[in-house]
Amino acid sequence: MVVSKIEPIVVMKFGGTSVANPERILSSANKVKRLKKLGCRIIAVISAPGEITNELVELAKGIQKKPDSREMDMLLATGEQISIALFAMALKSIGIDAVSLTGPQAGIRTAGPFADADISGIDTKKIRRCLRQNKTAVVAGFQGMNAAGEITTLGRGGSDLTAVALAAALKAEFCEIYTDVEGIYTADPRKIASARKISRISYDAMLKLALSGSQVMQARSITAAKRSGVPIHVKCSFSNKKGTWIK
Ligand code: ADP
Ligand code: ASP
Ligand code: MG
Repeated sequence: MVVSKIEPIVVMKFGGTSVANPERILSSANKVKRLKKLGCRIIAVISAPGEITNELVELAKGIQKKPDSREMDMLLATGEQISIALFAMALKSIGIDAVSLTGPQAGIRTAGPFADADISGIDTKKIRRCLRQNKTAVVAGFQGMNAAGEITTLGRGGSDLTAVALAAALKAEFCEIYTDVEGIYTADPRKIASARKISRISYDAMLKLALSGSQVMQARSITAAKRSGVPIHVKCSFSNKKGTWIK
C-alpha cells in the first residue's frame, strides 16, 4: 500500500529504559502502533537497551586502560544495533511493517571527533523510501558515519540528537522523547523530592537545564531543535500522561 504524502511525520525516540527487556520493547512498539493507527508516518529512534552502553565501556576498559577511540565508537555503536533489530521484530510481531537501519544506513553523516561527533547532514532518501512503502523506519540513535567512512558516536545521550536532527530533516510535526520520568522537572526528580513537572519550557530554558548537567535531554539536541524549530514532547514510556513540551 502506498500512503498519502499528507500523513504527518512523527519521530518517536525511545531511551534505554524503554527498551531494556522484551516486555518494554513490546510496550514501546505498541506506542508506535497506536500513533500509526491515528494516521501518522513514524520514524522510531532507539537507544541501546538498559545499561548496555555503560557495560561496553567497562568491557573495553578491561582490555585497554584508555581504549582506542576509533574502536570504542565501533564497540559502542553495537548497543543501538541490538535495539533496532529487536524493535523492528517487535513491530512486525504486532502487525506493523518495519525496517531497522543503522545510523550510516539511515544516511546520518557526521563530523568531529570519535565519541563526540556532531551530525553534519542527513541523506533522507532511504528513510523516505521506507515511508513511501508504509514501513516504519527504526533508526539506531547515537551514531553515524563521517566523510572518511568511519562509524562515529554523538556523545553520551546522543540518541536525542539523532531524533531531533531526523525530525528537522524530515520536517516532522514533532519529536516525541520517551524516557523513564514523566517529563522535564524543575530539578532531577530522582534526587530532589520537591521537583515539579513543567508542562512547557522554551528551547533556551531547556538548554540551560541541559548544560547545567540534567541528563534528560542531550544539550546539543536542544541547540539543533531551536535551530529548526521542531517541537519536542518529552514523556514517560510507562504512562499515558502528558509530558513536557519544549518549543
Ligand atoms: P533515557 O535513557 O531515556 O535517554 P536518561 O537517563 O538519559 O534517559 O534521562 C532521564 C533521566 O534524567 C531521569 O531518570 C532523571 O533522573 C534525569 N534528570 C535529570 N534532571 C532532570 C530534570 N530536570 N527533569 C527530568 N529528568 C531529569
Ligand atoms: N546509548 C547511548 C548512551 O548511553 C546513547 C543514548 O542513550 O542516547 O549514551
Ligand atoms: Mg538520554
